[in-house]
Amino acid sequence: MARFPKVRLGHFPTPLEPMDRLSEKLGGPRLWVKRDDCTGLSSGGNKTRKLEYLMADAQKHGADTIITQGATQSNHARQTTAAAAKLGMECHILLEDRTGSNDPSYILNGNVLLDQLHGATISKRGGGTDMNAEMQALAETLLAEGRTPYVIPGGGSNAIGALGYVNCARELAEQAAGTGLRIDALVHATGSSGTQAGLVTGLAAIQSDIHLLGIGVRAPQEKQEQMVFDLAQKTADHLGTGQIIQRSAVRANCDYVGPGYGLPTDGMIGALKLLAQTEGLLFDPVYSGKGLDGLIDQVQKGYFDGMDNVVFLHTGGSAALFGYPDTFGLPGYKE
Ligand SMILES: *Cc1c(COP(=O)(O)O)cnc(C)c1O
Repeated sequence: MARFPKVRLGHFPTPLEPMDRLSEKLGGPRLWVKRDDCTGLSSGGNKTRKLEYLMADAQKHGADTIITQGATQSNHARQTTAAAAKLGMECHILLEDRTGSNDPSYILNGNVLLDQLHGATISKRGGGTDMNAEMQALAETLLAEGRTPYVIPGGGSNAIGALGYVNCARELAEQAAGTGLRIDALVHATGSSGTQAGLVTGLAAIQSDIHLLGIGVRAPQEKQEQMVFDLAQKTADHLGTGQIIQRSAVRANCDYVGPGYGLPTDGMIGALKLLAQTEGLLFDPVYSGKGLDGLIDQVQKGYFDGMDNVVFLHTGGSAALFGYPDTFGLPGYKE
């Protein structure tokens, strides 16, 4: 891993903590949380690990401007704007309206507020826009103006960004070994697939038998698993260790997406409130809240029966909560 250029942006290793009140309540395996919501950069989240490699690559290419894209309440866009600020680069983000919401909180608060505080130039696009084409067009415009742009794909999910989660697999394994903990399973929300692809590759590289399960937040299962598998293979090629990725190591459960990406579900709301009130932890409505819904439901359905220790990778995102204030049925808020 040391061969790959990396710029330090976050706080690592992130803590691994037990969730004993939740475990007791659910009555299944002992549940743990890997705190990648505490990666530091601009209220944290999983994109920090990816950006350490992506921004180093941008610097290697002499970039002075970063371009990336995401949904309106993209955590990835927010973390990228912060990383660019820290490294003294300009940042342009293209935000796609994937939910059709006109709620002022959704379109201006939460991550959108933070994007602006970090000094990013924001432009919005309608749902279904070819965002990669839009980023290329913007890159060409900026090039013509004499800038040196570097395009980061949505979610920071390519073979360079995924290296961050190859590293995380090793970090987690070392953390567990250091405290004599045997981790049976690792669960997390999966979207643009870089997190899971990196973990699949990283766990394979250290020959770990930890059972990895992604909880999908957008695509149907077959498509999600294929995306993860393809990127894991590219990541393994990029690593250059000759690692063979097993298709069977890629598992996504996409039963918790609900009506669509970024649209709340009752399960997410229940899970998010439960964690806020049993563990004092904040999750987000788009990713980690749906991931938790999947974790809790699968504990209750016996998926982890026979396992002793299950870790939930907290991928962050709580800044998005302020884009969804009316979602939780709380007194004083709209229905
Ligand atoms: C981006 C994101 C994810 C999903 O990670 P991918 O690498 O895109 O699959 C999960 N949780 C949060 C909070 C995120 O911002």
